[in-house]
Formats: sequence, C-alpha cells, structure tokens
Amino acid sequence: MNNIGVFCAASDRLDAHYYELAEQFGKWLGENGKTLVYGGANSGLMESIAKGVKSTGGTVVGIVPRILETKRRASTYIDEIVPCVDLNDRKAILIDRSDVLVALPGGVGTLDEIFTVMASHSIGYHTKRVVLFNLDGFWDGVIEVLHELDRKHFVNVPLDRYLSVASSWEELFALL
Ligand code: AMP
Repeated sequence: MNNIGVFCAASDRLDAHYYELAEQFGKWLGENGKTLVYGGANSGLMESIAKGVKSTGGTVVGIVPRILETKRRASTYIDEIVPCVDLNDRKAILIDRSDVLVALPGGVGTLDEIFTVMASHSIGYHTKRVVLFNLDGFWDGVIEVLHELDRKHFVNVPLDRYLSVASSWEELFALL
C-alpha cells in the first residue's frame, strides 16, 4: 500500500505526546516511501504528521477545502493540493486517493471520517479499510460501541471486513 489516508486531530491544544506520535508516524511514512493523503490543515496533528513526512523526504497530498485555502489555513508542507468544495466531497476524494485510511487520535471530524469510510464500505461504494491506531486504548470507547451494536445485530456487514485495530506501532506497520 502506497497511498496512506490519515484522519487526525486539527486541535492545537493537545498534550505534547500526541504531536510527537503524529510526527513519528509521518517520519515512518516518508522513510518507507508512502504518500500521505490527508486534510491538509496547518494545525494540530495534521501539521505534525506532514512535517514528519517532509523531514524524511516523503510526499504529501492535501485535500483542502477552498474555504481553508482562501483563509490561508492550508499547510506549507503539501506537495500536491487537491482542491475540493466542502467536507463531503473532501471525504470522497480522500477515500478515492487512498489505499487504506488510518485514524490517529482525533475529535468529531475524525470520527465523522471513520464512520463515513465504514458506512460507505458496508453499502458497497468501495472496498477500503479503516485502521484505528489504538495506542494506549485511545479508541477503546468507539470499539466497544461498535462491538455492542454488533452483538445486538445492528451491524449488517461484519466489522472485520472494513475495520482493523492496531494497538502498537508494530501492529500498525504490519497492516500498512
Ligand atoms: P477533528 O478530529 O475534529 O479535529 O477533525 C480533524 C479531521 O477532520 C481531519 O482528519 C480532517 O480531515 C478534518 N478536519 C476537521 N477540521 C479541519 C480543518 N480545520 N482543516 C482541515 N481538515 C479538518
């Protein structure tokens, strides 16, 4: 897999270790010849991961809504900017340009992206997977909710067809 779509926080108010995690992952992507495909904002974990990719000579593709471009909130680390109109077409382009989607720690925007990938896969729009990077159990609550829905038969297509959980760096790298 070469094109790695990444969903992650836009917030600049997180504990420092989250930015280090994102930069470390970005470095691994660059060192391993992967292309980062992401939201392209110059804030939060998005900026840290792009910085990591560029520090190791990798390629960064940003799917950037026009409103952010005009407000100059697009990252300067981006090699290729793919313009989009709004958050809906951005999600579609992000999925289309990626071979797999990885969720680092994030908030409601990241949750929206994770669920869009799973829902559109289960309906049959694509065959791509989401990998939740569950270091220190960050996504435990979300995983538990999904399994609870599955136990009650609300999940129509088995979760393991479109969802992977990586609980360590080794597990994450093995999946990519
Ligand atoms: P959040 O998890 O709420 O911080 O939202 C971050 C996720 O949603 C990222 O993966 C982005 O693709 C998208 N996103 C949310 N806000 C922005 C923003 N200001 N600029 C670019 N992308 C954003």
